[in-house]
Amino acid sequence: MQYKFEKPITGTGGTVNYQCTIEWRNGRFLADEPQKTGGQDSGPDPFTLLMSSLASCTLITLRMYIERKGWDIPNIVVKTNMFQTLTGETMNYFIDRDISFPDRVIEPDQKSRLSEIAEQCPVSKVLEGNTKIRTFVYQEEPAGKEILYKNNDITVAWRSQLCKHSGRCVTQLPQVFNLKAHPWINVNGADAQTITEQVSKCPTGALFIQHHGQ
Ligand code: SF4
Repeated sequence: MQYKFEKPITGTGGTVNYQCTIEWRNGRFLADEPQKTGGQDSGPDPFTLLMSSLASCTLITLRMYIERKGWDIPNIVVKTNMFQTLTGETMNYFIDRDISFPDRVIEPDQKSRLSEIAEQCPVSKVLEGNTKIRTFVYQEEPAGKEILYKNNDITVAWRSQLCKHSGRCVTQLPQVFNLKAHPWINVNGADAQTITEQVSKCPTGALFIQHHGQ
């Protein structure tokens, strides 16, 4: 299993209510809350970001499909909004997505096909699918004892006290990190570059790599 993003989306926040800096692979932007809920409105709020994600994914998916079909549809508008209702103790969320093509008349069969394609956009699938959010909480701790795994080129150090067993290494590079094997880190299971990339994804700093001769 590989993460979708080489670099995770990273949000940081301080004491200025409720400004968050969001870093993505090619830049950063602010997120915030509107003034009526105590923020500065200096950036989109979390639900706006969620709706933006669906709107942009729908637009991109439709554009790819229209290009593939060679249809002459230059502009697409997608509006998304949401509401919630309470049934007993269960909160139900509804998202409405309105799609229009401002300067073209769309044939009925094109319309129904585009509607199906919109429903299959990847973000729709995440929102309607079987999504689990796994939360890990980390804090700075003393590194503790290091166990070293070496070959001629590299040494991987594992600091057991820092390992929170998030399973990222074992799920993403099982030929090197395998809890059922002994030793559990096999530095000969992949090339040094692949192991280096995986070590850099350890969220707690439990893994460290040293390249010999550098
Ligand atoms: S990725 Fe890091 S914290 Fe997670 S299991 Fe591997 S060594 Fe431990």
